[in-house]
Amino acid sequence: MNIKKYRVTDGDGFSLADFCPKDTGKCKASGDVQKIITQNISQMKELQDRLYADGKTALLLIFQAMDAGGKDSAIKHVMSGVNPQGVDVFSFKQPSKKELSHDYLWRAVKVLPPRGKIAIFNRSYYEDVLIVKVHRLYENHNVPERCKGEDTIEKRYAQIRHFEDYLWENGIVTVKFFLHLSKEMQRQRFLKRINEKDKNWKFCLGDIEERQYWDDYQDAYQSAIAATATRHSPWYVVPADKKWFARAVISTAVLDALQQIDPQYPKITHAQEAELEECKQRLLEEG
Ligand code: ATP
Ligand code: MG
Repeated sequence: MNIKKYRVTDGDGFSLADFCPKDTGKCKASGDVQKIITQNISQMKELQDRLYADGKTALLLIFQAMDAGGKDSAIKHVMSGVNPQGVDVFSFKQPSKKELSHDYLWRAVKVLPPRGKIAIFNRSYYEDVLIVKVHRLYENHNVPERCKGEDTIEKRYAQIRHFEDYLWENGIVTVKFFLHLSKEMQRQRFLKRINEKDKNWKFCLGDIEERQYWDDYQDAYQSAIAATATRHSPWYVVPADKKWFARAVISTAVLDALQQIDPQYPKITHAQEAELEECKQRLLEEG
């Protein structure tokens, strides 16, 4: 599956309008991608095992979307095959009082993946240039005046770019997904959450209120992606109206990232090989 058209590695000339949430490539139904997803998951499993054994590189996967964009189910589905011991998922909600008393990257830095592991951020520090931009929340923060000027968000784009460069230069690979949903599909998914009793818990009044700011959020995503897409920390703009297609794109992208890392099982030295042989002999003699 060719996912190049969804990958953004350079913000120059990036336009969200060039991406259609309904896009399903050449595929017409979920059956067309099932095999791809199954194969991706099985290869991911093997590579994750090697990533852990190699212990040199970590992988950070960031998921961002409008409400009902399908982050939760994409994460659940795509990671269904991997060893849970090698993956940690963190959800970034409204910051607590304690979190707000720190710089905005603090809570993310605390849970960065160690080498050999994968961390999944369900929302992330990108909220600090999305919801925080849309509602100008930074104006209410208890920080010096010079830290909440008009240029706060612009400065944060640069900080995030530098932060992700820093991660790359320290062996942490960052890949970012924007699950690109249409406004109409959000309406349908909200209605489903209201109409189906076992989905009610997923809906809250705040979701409808945020929906009113749809265009502001799209603008905020446009600016954030344009400012932070780099070769080493790419964004994927994933068409998300069809969940099955989103899963195919995401699983292919995660697999691609692992293949680029190309983790290897550690090679054992001749001395270790001799030691293993000796242990083997001792065990055989016991039998
Ligand atoms: P769900 O799919 O279950 O709705 P969710 O990710 O939307 O998942 P919620 O608990 O509904 O989770 O919402 C978390 C809310 O926290 C989001 O509206 C998000 O914008 C907000 N949030 C996250 N980080 C920040 C931040 N730094 N400042 C302000 N709000 C934030
Ligand atoms: Mg929500």
